[in-house]
Amino acid sequence: MTTRGPLRLTPEAQARFTPPPGYAPRSPVTTDCTACGACCAAPDIHALNKPLGVPCVNLGPDEGCGHLCAIYATRPGVCRGYQPDWVCGEVAPLPTLAARTRRFLEIYGLEQLP
Ligand code: SF4
Ligand code: SF4
Repeated sequence: MTTRGPLRLTPEAQARFTPPPGYAPRSPVTTDCTACGACCAAPDIHALNKPLGVPCVNLGPDEGCGHLCAIYATRPGVCRGYQPDWVCGEVAPLPTLAARTRRFLEIYGLEQLP
């Protein structure tokens, strides 16, 4: 996983990277996508019949350039529409996909992995 430096953010992007009121993030990191894989593992994705907390079958292993999508060119619209936001700053720095997935689920108040 690589963590990129600070971004020049448009106001719209700045809004996406700002945690909601009342939520205190543990990490101040603001980042664009590092292909950490969390958003391909944590949420349930109906279009892919993917359950909560289970990595997408199309998600490859981290081989030094992040967890890459094996069907990136033909990935469904729900994946195309997903944009990095403040949650990325919370999950991407964590050391393993499992840890990122747990934190992603925790942030959204979804069921924890065993
Ligand atoms: S959670 Fe954020 S940083 Fe991680 S793969 Fe998804 S968009 Fe990229
Ligand atoms: S299809 Fe690709 S982009 Fe969509 S969740 Fe699976 S691995 Fe991620």
